[in-house]
Amino acid sequence: MKFLVVGGAGYIGSHMVKHLLDANHQVVVADNFSTGHRAALLGGLLEELDIADAAALDALFAAHRFDAVFHFASFIQVGESVSEPAKYYANNFCATLTLLQAMVRAQIKHFIFSSTAAVYGDPVYVPIDEEHPKAAINPYGRSKWMVEQMLEDFDRAYGLKSVCLRYFNAAGADPEGLLGERHEPETHLIPLILQAAAGRRPAITVFGRDYDTPDGTCIRDYIHVADLVQAHALAVDYLLAGGESNAFNLGNGQGFSVQEVIDTACRVTGRAIAVNDAPRRAGDPPRLVADASRASTLLGWQPRFASIEQIVMHAWAWEQRYPWTDKLS
Ligand code: UDP
Repeated sequence: MKFLVVGGAGYIGSHMVKHLLDANHQVVVADNFSTGHRAALLGGLLEELDIADAAALDALFAAHRFDAVFHFASFIQVGESVSEPAKYYANNFCATLTLLQAMVRAQIKHFIFSSTAAVYGDPVYVPIDEEHPKAAINPYGRSKWMVEQMLEDFDRAYGLKSVCLRYFNAAGADPEGLLGERHEPETHLIPLILQAAAGRRPAITVFGRDYDTPDGTCIRDYIHVADLVQAHALAVDYLLAGGESNAFNLGNGQGFSVQEVIDTACRVTGRAIAVNDAPRRAGDPPRLVADASRASTLLGWQPRFASIEQIVMHAWAWEQRYPWTDKLS
């Protein structure tokens, strides 16, 4: 099969590229390197382009006949989406529309979309299944939900079949140690804790200890990046076998508190990790846990690296290598 991976130089996209290459597929990566890393590309053919550029997409689709397109290229910082919503609607929504229009022109019928648990907003029940009300509370979540709704319309009108994968908290690193997470600036809990363990940061700051949870810190469902990309591979198989457009939650169905993740990191690294306490971060719900039974039933997806120890262990192996950049912000 021949696949296009948009955003293939980013965190999850680069793991997807590796997975597809390991399965002997032909892979073309489209990336504008606004946040991705060239060193994260382990193979495939690189097309350096911006998906907002319709002419570049037409040329790409004239040159290659893709069986499906994976789309990982989006901005992901919730706080930034509140202060700079235009950036999020322009890239996450408008550029995705441009990509989908080019796919329709080229008659490419299969699309795998990186969506997010942020489409649900503050949970009204937990664990969250796919039918949970969609009430995103920030422009990031709204930009993803707008794409999901657009995809429903594109299926009805143009027969474009899609799978939207709603990630809970993506974490961990390639089990073989070749790839990992490197965001600039880093905002995610596990890499920040491990940077503190490695001495690259003075401490980890806990945002709020007064939540209505057993230890007062927020609970999240951390999902290994290798399990995420496995779900994408199953999703494309499902579409290519004639499956209907659908959305799936991807999580382990088990929540860990911020303090539990810090404790796990202390055990895994054998290091003391300095902790500061700070007030709640705006927009953080107390508890986000996935009901991922639809992915299990319809895609046959079973996470292989469900333990938080294993997720932190792989992230720590990557953190200790610390390739690509020494800049921290
Ligand atoms: N968090 C924290 N300190 C940090 C970064 C994150 O206490 O420096 C908390 C955050 O408030 C949330 C959890 O860790 O409860 C996971 O946050 P992250 O940004 O990794 O992912 P999110 O849940 O926002 O997608």
